[in-house]
Amino acid sequence: MVRFVSFTVPCGLAVIDRGLVVSKKSNKPEWAPKDAGGEFATRVMHGVSGGHDGMPGQAGAQARATAGIPRRRRLGVDEYVKGVLAGDRNVLGQAITLVESNAHTHMDMAQEVLRRVIPHSGRSIRIGITGVPGAGKSTFIEALGLYLCEKGHRVAVLAVDPSSKVTRGSILGDKTRMELLSRDLRAFIRPSPSSGTLGGVTRKSRETILVCEAAGFDVILVETVGVGQSETTVRSMVDFFLLVMIAGAGDELQGIKKGIMELADALLVNKADGDNKPRANAAKLEYNRALHYLAPATDGWQTRAYSCSSLTGEGIPELWSVVEDFRKRTMDSGVLEKRRRAQTLDWVYSMVEEHLRASFFQHAGVERIRAEIEHEVMWGRMPPTVAVQRLIAEFEGAGNP
Ligand code: GDP
Repeated sequence: MVRFVSFTVPCGLAVIDRGLVVSKKSNKPEWAPKDAGGEFATRVMHGVSGGHDGMPGQAGAQARATAGIPRRRRLGVDEYVKGVLAGDRNVLGQAITLVESNAHTHMDMAQEVLRRVIPHSGRSIRIGITGVPGAGKSTFIEALGLYLCEKGHRVAVLAVDPSSKVTRGSILGDKTRMELLSRDLRAFIRPSPSSGTLGGVTRKSRETILVCEAAGFDVILVETVGVGQSETTVRSMVDFFLLVMIAGAGDELQGIKKGIMELADALLVNKADGDNKPRANAAKLEYNRALHYLAPATDGWQTRAYSCSSLTGEGIPELWSVVEDFRKRTMDSGVLEKRRRAQTLDWVYSMVEEHLRASFFQHAGVERIRAEIEHEVMWGRMPPTVAVQRLIAEFEGAGNP
């Protein structure tokens, strides 16, 4: 019998999250010194299996811990599959944690769970939402999510956060977000997987979408911050892509390049309320004029700008009818199916690339010669093309000894 432990210091939940276990007999964590007495600042807590389970925040896990509810058992493949298909939110959260895990033992199990739930996926509308920080994405997602739940939909919100690589932190996950929506049992909010490269995050996000669909969520909202590569990444996994903007911020400020507007199926000028309403409407007209000259993101669909207020809810039902119209048209024309097929193929090759990339950088020979080659290139003593040849030759096993 094993139990989870927690530090009595604030980092305790992170420890729980990694699922570190101790034996009941010793009542001490495995890293505790053998001769440690009561001064060793850890204690055994009952009933904690981590807050990283898709439930709102860490508070739920903490509450369960102090309430003495027995901890969850590790589930088997059958239990994951059954729970997900039954729409059990706790099992869904655990299944996503499994899918996100990089541990080899988890990967095989995750693939088996995925293989069995995938036939039940695909029956949702997948919507990507991007925009600079402060544009009002989370406020908008909460307003749209609550509106859709009232209409009888089940809404899953996922985040793809490109920031983790650079800042080692999460832009999307740090603030208290979507409080009302997170309390709604018809919604499921999953913070971004917070480590690894954007590529790794992508793989996990795509698989997470499929698991949520299998659990019966029929609207999937994938949020990302409008910086770097993330828009293209999210575009490649959704049906409909929405760019949230604010009036008067200036195009440079919003990082809006022509390329990003060309990815979007709709532009939404948010914060169209109070004194800002006329400005928002003027911006909408201006964007509509600009969009006229751009290639549309989806065949047979004209991308247009709309406005809304995520605070008052004005414009949200109209925006949703645009999404519904898009869905109907692209389903009727076959464009949606074609897009999803192409995305799946794209996914295969992005996983191949990810695998090759990882094999290259983990290759012992490459690791051995890399530092020296980098040094030579940086000091101009070796042309980059020669460096590439040397590295690839080493990787392919034909390098100079
Ligand atoms: P995000 O960084 O894009 O997720 O932006 P947030 O949703 O956190 O919103 C940033 C700020 O804008 C917050 O202070 C919100 O209250 C505010 N905000 C968001 N939507 C609206 C809106 O429709 N109208 C007004 N007036 N403020 C809004």
